[in-house]
Amino acid sequence: MLHKSLSNMEEQTFVYAVLENIRVALAHSKNREVIIGIGQLTGLSAEQIIASIRMLAPEIIEQKPVFRFFPIPGKIWCTGCGYRGDPGEVVSDKDDLELVIHCPKCNSTKTIKTEGAELEVIFSEKYELK
Ligand SMILES: [Zn+2]
Repeated sequence: MLHKSLSNMEEQTFVYAVLENIRVALAHSKNREVIIGIGQLTGLSAEQIIASIRMLAPEIIEQKPVFRFFPIPGKIWCTGCGYRGDPGEVVSDKDDLELVIHCPKCNSTKTIKTEGAELEVIFSEKYELK
């Protein structure tokens, strides 16, 4: 499922900011471990993220980082009915640039992502993984 393109300008900016965070995390990591939280509402998978890094910043892959991924649950606010909470159906639009998120209460697509729309790079020293 590597169909998501990086043609969208906003998405490119987003990706480059994440790459910079990964470079900083790697530079400070003792064991080359980089922990990345994937927002459920980004529509991105770990495979897509690694493929993007390989394409845009091969020097990061050359350092043989150990990537660990964890999901960040998505939350929405519906401007139609005021609902806040877990999203309903999430679908890609026809141009595949933006996810369309339905409100589970009124089925409106006038929803705003309040959580889970980001990629978060975590410095591994601060966390103990089991
Ligand atoms: Zn609603």
